[in-house]
Amino acid sequence: MLATVFHGVNDIRVEEVERPRAGVGEAVIGVTLTTICGTDLHIVRGEYPVKSGLVIGHEPVGVIEELGPGVTGYEVGMRVLVGAITPCGQCRACLSGQLSQCGHGDGYEALGGWRFGNTINGAQAEYLLVPHAQANLARIPARSLTSRRRMKSSAIEREASSRWLSNLEAWLSRDIRRSL
Ligand SMILES: [Zn+2]
Ligand SMILES: [Zn+2]
Repeated sequence: MLATVFHGVNDIRVEEVERPRAGVGEAVIGVTLTTICGTDLHIVRGEYPVKSGLVIGHEPVGVIEELGPGVTGYEVGMRVLVGAITPCGQCRACLSGQLSQCGHGDGYEALGGWRFGNTINGAQAEYLLVPHAQANLARIPARSLTSRRRMKSSAIEREASSRWLSNLEAWLSRDIRRSL
């Protein structure tokens, strides 16, 4: 599949990488819409460090292509929005409502919930592996059949996406301020 890969400061390439497969508790999304965020620009300029070879991007909308064992309430083919922050939903930070600080066991980790395009491959790709999928998918109502309805549906998708994104951006910048 094609993806946007960070190779180093000011060295970003769209290239072929291996397509992910869903394991236990995971989902693979066929990405239909994603963004270039200001955060991605910081990464490319070397102002926020990520490892070389990482697929960047963290704001996806798409269709479920694969569901791993243990993910319930979703089906292949469903249109979904995936949060930029992908908390596990089960650690102490998550259970106390601090989803973006999803940590390890009992702890809290600044920006720990931000994984896409930070600590794991991100959304500027044809397919995206979603960890902890049970906690990180939001269904987008399907309203296709007529082209008029399709247009309406994509407008809803855009609106839902921008609303989520503005919230997520606010959470993210609040976290960055906290961690400074
Ligand atoms: Zn962003
Ligand atoms: Zn967690």
